[in-house]
Amino acid sequence: MSEYKCFSCNKILGMDHMKKRIRCVYCGSKIVFKRRSVSTTVEAV
Ligand SMILES: [Zn+2]
Repeated sequence: MSEYKCFSCNKILGMDHMKKRIRCVYCGSKIVFKRRSVSTTVEAV
């Protein structure tokens, strides 16, 4: 399950919002980047 975040309005866009075209449905910006689940597993060896 991947989410995208709009670079312009910082809205979280699900895959349902962008069926074919990667574009923000809120502001119409094309600049969205993939939002990873923040899992910072720092292994201290
Ligand atoms: Zn936007």
